[in-house]
Amino acid sequence: MPEGPEVEIVRRGLKNLYRQKIIGIFFSSHKKYSSQGLKSFSKLLGTQIKEIKRKGKWLIFVFDNEIKAINHLGMSGKWLLFEHEKNISIKKQYFCEELDFKEQDIEKKHKEISSYIRVTSLETTNKEGSKINSYYLIPKEGQKFIETKNNPLKKSFEEEILYDKHIKLIIFLEKYVAIFSDPRIFGQFRIIDDEETKKQLKRIEHLGPDILEKPFDIERFIGNLKRHPKITIASALLRTDIVLGVGNIYRSEALFRAKISPFRRINQIKKEELRVLGKKIHEVGMEALRYGGSSIQSYVNTDGRSGGMQERFLVYGKNKQPCVVCGNEIKKDKIDGRSIYWCEYCQK
Ligand SMILES: [Zn+2]
Repeated sequence: MPEGPEVEIVRRGLKNLYRQKIIGIFFSSHKKYSSQGLKSFSKLLGTQIKEIKRKGKWLIFVFDNEIKAINHLGMSGKWLLFEHEKNISIKKQYFCEELDFKEQDIEKKHKEISSYIRVTSLETTNKEGSKINSYYLIPKEGQKFIETKNNPLKKSFEEEILYDKHIKLIIFLEKYVAIFSDPRIFGQFRIIDDEETKKQLKRIEHLGPDILEKPFDIERFIGNLKRHPKITIASALLRTDIVLGVGNIYRSEALFRAKISPFRRINQIKKEELRVLGKKIHEVGMEALRYGGSSIQSYVNTDGRSGGMQERFLVYGKNKQPCVVCGNEIKKDKIDGRSIYWCEYCQK
């Protein structure tokens, strides 16, 4: 699951979509996406994305008519951007349609889609780069994080929309087409236009501090922790009412760097230690951002930049390997069903 720094990298990639009119939308017939339906999604037609904000792992889209949408990548959601100046032409303007992306009959699907758009080129880029589509990819959980402008392994836009059964939303803008795919349906993209979504946004906006927030509000972080004196520090770091954007990876790394055992309960930890932990959380987050996020499994890509943070892990995924500080074996344990890596000698 992407954590705060990875979602921030996605947010920066999506800035390519700013200030372009939205001219068409396909949304999935899956109930999580279709329940808001035509009425909500069609409000976006003719508007522009003014800004995309991030709170932890949520992205908040702000459109120029002040409509907002909440987007979450869930476990393995990803955004793909395609430039369409030459490749894709829009036949109908201002369309908003529900599509069954799971539809097995490719011909039928093709026919339906091609009544709205036309794909004039299936060219894929090669190393010499005859055609370049800007391309932002967050592969499935556990795979590498990629941000590339010239990825020889990528599929064409047409292949992507015909064969990816997990697409939940396609937004056609003046220069780009943005595809949101959510294979495990833990993600969301909801327009804020009813009481339920308004409440959700309000709740999210009041959460924090965020792992990348500058300056990171350590006193607020400690105050949030003190409200849960009995829970373990490892569990606490995954709670959005305590700190935002920290997941499994960065909690292991931050606790190791702060020399605190993941099993200690909040009321057993001195304020000074919590202060150090807050500092380390922010440091590890900023380091991850600087190194392009974390990519867990290998992924072959000759041209694209991939995340390099995994090479800087001190404990995460290092089960039974020697601790970089004391040389003893790193342990892997579970707390509330989630893995934690730590050194029982260095972390007290
Ligand atoms: Zn150690």
